[in-house]
Amino acid sequence: MALKDVLLDELRDMYSAENQLVKALPKLAKGAKDATLKQLFKDHLEETKGQVLRLKEVFGHLGEKPTGQHCNGMEGVIEEGADALEKDEEGPSFDSGIVGAALRTEHYEIAGYEACIAMAKTLRLSAVVALLTENLNEELATAKKVKAAGMPLMQAAAKQPEEPKKPKSGKEKYSAKKSKEDEKKAAPDLK
Ligand code: FE
Ligand code: FE
Repeated sequence: MALKDVLLDELRDMYSAENQLVKALPKLAKGAKDATLKQLFKDHLEETKGQVLRLKEVFGHLGEKPTGQHCNGMEGVIEEGADALEKDEEGPSFDSGIVGAALRTEHYEIAGYEACIAMAKTLRLSAVVALLTENLNEELATAKKVKAAGMPLMQAAAKQPEEPKKPKSGKEKYSAKKSKEDEKKAAPDLK
């Protein structure tokens, strides 16, 4: 497999990831309780739509079509965000969870773009590098803004009283069981 094919795989993943985010960001905007955080997600939704278009341009430069690969990683990260949206927490604690989920999505994108840019640079695809760098810079700026918006929310959440533990839901029980299995499988390697 030539490096260009590896790059195309990665780019198709990114294209799927960005499209998935166009669907997921309105849910974060709707779910967030803090007005700054809400606005941030709305603004980033518009940016994300532009990122999809930039990726289409990238595929145009490469003479390929953008579809063909579903990004499982982003599906999982978005799933974590959906879990955060289901949490039965008070305002700032709830939003702190959303901040955590949003940072995961942004950093997943950052990792993807950094890999694609490194490959495109190696292949001397300067127009592709330029377009991907624009997307990367938007993700970096968004991660920074989400973190900054999260700081006062976390400070407020730290002042909320701790609540008594509630019984686990079916989904939480399943997750706890899987986490025990993860630990057990790793155990022989941790001696
Ligand atoms: Fe993006
Ligand atoms: Fe993003």
